[in-house]
This record gives sequence, structure tokens and C-alpha cells, in this order.
Amino acid sequence: MEFNTSLSELSGIGQKRAEAFASLGLRTAGDLLYHFPRAYQNRGNISLLAAAPSKLVCAFLLEVMSSPSNVRIKGGRTVTKFRAFDESGVCTVVYFNQPYIKNNISIGKKYRFFGALSRGRNGTELISPICEPYSGENSPLADYVPIYRSCVGLSQNLISQCVKKVLDACKNSPGAFALPDPLSYEIRKRYSLCDLVYALENIHFPPSPECVETARRRLMFDELYIYGLRNRLYGSSEKADAVRLEKPDNARFAALFPFEFTNAQKRAMDEICADMTSGKRMNRLVTGDVGSGKTACAAYSVYIAVESGTQAVVMAPTEILARQHYEDLEPLFTKLGKRTALLVGATKASEKKRIKEGLADGTVDIVIGTHALIEGDVSFASLGVAVIDEQHRFGVKQRAALFDKASGCHTLTMSATPIPRTLAMALFGSVSASAVDEIPPGRQKIDTYVVDESYRERLDGFIRKQVEEGGQVYIVCPAVEEEEDYLDDAGEKISDKNIETFSRFNTDIKLKAAAAYIEEIKKKFPDIPSALIHGKMKSSEKESVMLDFAAGKYRILVSTTVIEVGVNVPNASLMIVENAEYFGLSQLHQLRGRVGRGSRKSYCVLVSGKPRGTVDRLTMLAKNSDGYAIAEYDLANRGPGDLLALGGTGVRQSGGASVKLSLLHSDITLMNAAFDAADRTLAGEFGDTDKNKLLSICAKTLDKRLYTNV
Ligand code: ADP
Ligand code: MG
Repeated sequence: MEFNTSLSELSGIGQKRAEAFASLGLRTAGDLLYHFPRAYQNRGNISLLAAAPSKLVCAFLLEVMSSPSNVRIKGGRTVTKFRAFDESGVCTVVYFNQPYIKNNISIGKKYRFFGALSRGRNGTELISPICEPYSGENSPLADYVPIYRSCVGLSQNLISQCVKKVLDACKNSPGAFALPDPLSYEIRKRYSLCDLVYALENIHFPPSPECVETARRRLMFDELYIYGLRNRLYGSSEKADAVRLEKPDNARFAALFPFEFTNAQKRAMDEICADMTSGKRMNRLVTGDVGSGKTACAAYSVYIAVESGTQAVVMAPTEILARQHYEDLEPLFTKLGKRTALLVGATKASEKKRIKEGLADGTVDIVIGTHALIEGDVSFASLGVAVIDEQHRFGVKQRAALFDKASGCHTLTMSATPIPRTLAMALFGSVSASAVDEIPPGRQKIDTYVVDESYRERLDGFIRKQVEEGGQVYIVCPAVEEEEDYLDDAGEKISDKNIETFSRFNTDIKLKAAAAYIEEIKKKFPDIPSALIHGKMKSSEKESVMLDFAAGKYRILVSTTVIEVGVNVPNASLMIVENAEYFGLSQLHQLRGRVGRGSRKSYCVLVSGKPRGTVDRLTMLAKNSDGYAIAEYDLANRGPGDLLALGGTGVRQSGGASVKLSLLHSDITLMNAAFDAADRTLAGEFGDTDKNKLLSICAKTLDKRLYTNV
């Protein structure tokens, strides 16, 4: 067995199960090893039948005293019943529609049951508990049982059995299993990290919460280390030669705009100009708050390129954003006599063909589009600059494809996440960064309030008032669906009780789910048109809902964070964020930036059911509107995870769907250690510095997980 061994080669996995695994994105043994539990169920606290409360899931160690009988009841269902006892009492164990259970139970044997008691007319019953054979103190059952993200057709048991098989293969025949530890012994020793196999074993089957922590620390380190390596290796092409472009007429450019540039914009433009006229390849990241005017900076780089007689490409993550850029930029450059084209998925084939011809022969100067741009046969007569908006929304593959097309050309990446300078340096290594850290004058302040459930009624009234006054309302929820589908072996949903995530952000509250919440909203406001948008929808569906909302067809939009970056709806005047404590401040700040984009006075209401600590954090946001200050605060208080999550892993978007370790939980100390290790590795301190080998390790073990995008 190897890292890339297909799962269908594992014993017990046939076509059907392989397909089920594939639907979770799991195709190889390695995928499975890195399919980390989303939580752990604690079955270690054994209760006594007589003492356990009713209706609460508990663990029992019981001996079976009667042989199971299957009885058919009406509706063709079967009931399986048998009696079992412990030192405190007796109960009847009951299963519905699982006649095969009968074959797994023997009189006189002990089992660990995990389920809730019900005490009623039929005496004490244990209904559909999870059942594990107990073979005595010498081979104890694990206290903590992993709970995986799963789907129909895959029981928890099956997943963990398969993980176990793969783990055993790595342990017992380390040579045979190609799971290279990307960290050498020297690195592990220096940063006090456990080895990879230990980490994987303990993240799946931890004997204690402490072991999860040790494992997680190691695995997060890996992610950060590879991230650091990648950025350092990747950024090193910066000094490559590129066309030297001419210094343009700045006054002519400035005259295109009805406003004065801010000092921050001017500074970024100077930096861009210096890069592009240096003869060396620009690889610059422009960060800036929503509304800070990054588009003008991007336009400036396009201007330099086209004024020097080269072409420019502007790539946006969605069609809507591409269109918006087109609407902003096309008139400007038309004034200068340049030809700008929009190339998106929906562009007619004949039109596409014409644009591509224009790009190839140089008659089209600027092309704006989505990734459709980089698919296949687009070629440029002479590409001067490639601008990538909201870079984190692109996968690394797409970015690489663009850089491929644009080899030798200057690149400018824009990110709406205000990244503190310290973090930017650490993250992007040799990539130069410009911060547009000033908001143009005259912007309205968005009044922000932190409230709890007791304000619900007033909040509903406020929603109605905003709509009646002609405004529109966003309501953001942290989750898509009410509950994750983590089914137990009987195909029943496992209750959230007794599940421990051991994570720092473990929330015991019930998260509002967009899919359920929209129903509530429709009931509360039957007369107000409302719609739902979330990340599990197809992107074409998302775009059409978003466009309809922008056009005013809906007045309330219930969503997950998919709206975080993106479309301008000038009419939107109220942003409500449910379970606000669940989000990082920077993310909340970005969400808040969705309103106040027109002339309407705008508000942001953060609904939080949490006690003081979180509220303080949210209050910081309510009092502050500077994205950089907010990001610094987040960095100091929650570590880089939230910022990095904004920059790519997209874990939040899925509503905590998988506890892929995600950089989410990493802290700044660990990040610095990992980046330090990356620097030292490249400096040759740990021996081998063959870049290709390092990159192949990245690719093999960690890369794809780190860069999986939403
Ligand atoms: P973002 O940084 O979020 O991409 P945009 O570039 O879209 O921001 O700018 C937001 C709005 O601010 C646009 O309507 C733009 O015309 C306007 N704007 C940009 N720069 C300035 C400025 N210096 N003064 C006034 N308004 C500006
Ligand atoms: Mg923008």
C-alpha cells in the first residue's frame, strides 16, 4: 500500500463504497489518512444503569442475559430486543429495523453500549445504542472514538476501520508505505514535534485529549511549514527579467478619475511603477480594506502596460466580479483609445473567438474575465501585466496556469484582506506588498451593534423598517445546514451530545444554519421577498441569486459567508451576522463591508449569544473601522488562523464541515516556528536543500490539502 494507493484496493471497499468515499473527496489511502475527525465521542465514562439519567446519551458496560429476538411489527418493521445487566440493574436493549444485530450478540458476553435510556411502561429500555464487544480489561476499548465527516453509505465504523487499516500499513511496514515524513529528525527535534505516523495515529485514535493536541501541533506545523516553503520557493522568481515598461504620464491617468487619489493609493502606485519600469519582474501584492480603492491601483498597472504598447489581463474569481471590473475599467480605457474586452463563461462562442483573435494579434489591449480566461487556447501578442483580484479565491493550480501564460510578465495581486505587515512578511516572503491602508474621505461610518437574543424582536422590527424604507438586508449564518451528517453505524444521526472537538473554538452553542433560517425568515416576513445563497450551491445558481438580489428582486438575502467578497449592492443597508462570535474579526469586518456601499445610512448588527469575553472582541469591531487595526487585534488574540482562513483554506465557509486541521487553530508562535524552519531549510541548515525535492514533498503529502479552495 502506498500514499497513492486507490481506496478501492482496500479490503472491504467495493465500487459503491469507493464512490461514497470519492464523494467526500477521498480517493487514496493518503486522502484517508488526512481525513481528520471532525470531533471525538467520549465513550469512556461508563455509567451505571440505575444511576444514569434518562434521555441522555451515556456509555454502559453490560452483560447480555437473554438471546436477542426479532419481532415483526406493523409496517413491515422489525424490532430486536434482548435483556442486559450491570451491577446496578437490568434493561432491555431495543433496535429497530436492524435484524442483523441479532447475529452479533451472544448471551453471557459483555458489550459497551452507547445510547440513551428511556424509562416508561416497558421498564428501562436502551434504544438503538451503539454496541461494541468488550473483551475484558486486557484489551480495553478506546475511550475516544473519532467522528468523521461522512455521507450516506459510509458508517463511522467503516471509515475508522479503513483508517486503521491504512495506519497499520504505515506502522508495520514503514518501508512499504510511501509516507515520507516531510520533516527531518533535526527539524522535529529542534521544534519539539512528534513524528508523522505518531501524529496521524493520535489525531485519529487519541488515547487522551492531550495526544490530540500533540498530534495537531505537529500537523499544523506541517501545513505552515509547507506554506512557508512554497511561498519562499515560489516568490523567488520575482527577480527574473521582464519587459521594461515606460514610465507613463501620471497626470493623464489621474485625470480619468473624478477624485484625488489617497496617499496610500499614490504610494502603492509609485511602488507599482517602480517595479514595472525596473526591467525585473513585478510580483506584488496589494492589500487593502474593502473600499480602499484597490481597483484604481490595478487600473494604474494596466495603464502602464498598455501605454507601453503591451497588453493587460485582469482576472476575477467570479463572473459577477469580472463584469464589475469591466464596467469600471472599460470606460476609462476607451477614453484613452484602448480596446477592452470581457471574457467569461457566458460569453458567446463567436464573441470569444473574436476576442481571442484580438488578443493574439494585439488588437485587444485589455481583457477582463474569470478563469475561463486561462482555459486552453488564449494567447497574447505581448502581455505586459496580469492582475489577479481577490487572489485567495483562486486555486493554486489556476494561479499557476495564469503565471504560466503570463511568464515573464508582471503580476499584481489584490487581496481584500488587510494583512498586517508582520504577517505579510512572514507569509509572502519575497513577494512585495503594498498596503492601501487609507479609506477615501467622505465614506460613511457603518454603525455596528453587538446584541444578544433578547434583542430579537427589535431586530426583526429593524429588518422590516430597513426594507420598508427601500433598503436591503443581508443575514449571514455560520453554517449551511442544521446538522452535519455524521451517522452512526445504524445510520442514525449521532447527537451532538458527548462529542468533543478538543478545539479552542469549540462552541457549545447551536449554530444558525442558513438553510433552516431562510424558512424562519419567510415565515416571519411572508410579504418580503427573500432568498438563500450558500457555498454548496452551483456557482451559476449563486451568481443568479446574487444578481437578482443586486437588482432588488429580493430584499432579504440569507447566506453563508459566500457573500464575503464580491458583489456591490449599493442599496444594501443592513448586515446581520448570526453567531457572530464564531467568526474572526477580520471576517466580520469584511462582511460589514458589504453594506454602506451606496448613499444609504448603513448598519451592522452582530448577534451573539456568548458571554463577556467574545463580546469584548466584538465590541472592538463595533468601535473600529480600520481593517488593519482589526487584523492586528485578531492576530494578537486569535493567531493567524482566521486571517489565513480568509486567505485560502475556506474552512469557515463550509460551516465547520471538516476539522481539517486548518490553519484556523494555529497560533502565531507555531507559525513563526514553522516559517523559521522553512527559512533554515532553504538556508541549508537541515541538510538537503534540493528545491525540486522539497517541492515534490510538498506536493505529495501536504500541498493539495493546504490549497484546496472553496
Ligand atoms: P476596493 O479596494 O474594495 O476594490 P474599489 O477600488 O472598488 O475598492 O473602490 C471603492 C469605491 O471608492 C469606488 O466607487 C471608487 O470609485 C471609489 N474610490 C476609489 N478611490 C477613491 C478616492 N481616492 N477618493 C474617492 N473615492 C475613491
Ligand atoms: Mg475590489
